[in-house]
Parts: sequence; C-alpha cells; structure tokens
Amino acid sequence: MNIESALEKLNCSKFRSSFHLKKKDIEYIKEKGWDKIQSHCHDFITKKLAPAIIASDGKQTPTHGHPVFVAQHACACCCRGCLKKWYKIEKGLNLSHEQIKNIVDLLLAWMHKEFDSFKETANSNRIEKKNNIKTPLQLKLF
Ligand SMILES: [Zn+2]
Repeated sequence: MNIESALEKLNCSKFRSSFHLKKKDIEYIKEKGWDKIQSHCHDFITKKLAPAIIASDGKQTPTHGHPVFVAQHACACCCRGCLKKWYKIEKGLNLSHEQIKNIVDLLLAWMHKEFDSFKETANSNRIEKKNNIKTPLQLKLF
C-alpha cells in the first residue's frame, strides 16, 4: 500500500474526508508526543482490528475520544468491512505484522497532515465553522 495514493483516494471520498482532528485531539498529541500516539495506534489496531474474529465488527471504533479513532474513520481502517472494501484485505484472517505496520503508518501519516494543517489555520475560524457543519451530518450517519 502506497501511503500517498491511499491518502489521495481517501481525500476524494466525501465521507472519509469529512473527518478531521479537533483542537483537543491536537492538544492530546502535543501532550503525549508522537511516540505515545504511535504505540496507542499499534495497540488499537492489534486488539480491535487484527484478530480474525472480532465481536461486533463495524462498531469497535468510536468516532471521537482519541485522535487515532478519528484517523481510523478518515482512513477507512475502522473495521474489517472497511478494510476489505478499501484495501481488499479479506475478513476472517488475522492481519499480518506487515499489514498492521502499514495501517499504523497510514494512520500516522494522516494524523501528521492534520496536525500540520491545523497549526497553519489554528487562528482562523474556518475550522470551527467546518466542524459546526459536520456535527449534524455525523449524528445522522451514526
Ligand atoms: Zn468501518
């Protein structure tokens, strides 16, 4: 999986590109540091996505509460159904170490992009407005 082309493809999806890190996610990343975020990410993927059989697949990833959760939805790495649809990863098999690493790399790349673009636009209220519009849509979808 090429990270750049995956991110481009995700950006073309209206649904996937509607997910963004919010101020408190950015602050959380700053507080914990990227090493911690990466290890959380690896942990979530290993526990909630990698096993061949997952109870309530499709509902294991909340839409907020941790920057990695947001990244998982933005990158279609939220459940095995989305992994199959987007990356042709078959259900019912344990993810390999390489697949886990690729997913973690993709999620980290997405979070870094969000983090960098947040810094640039942090002082404009464009992001706030965008988030306000997004909320009712998310409620409808979930
Ligand atoms: Zn999903």
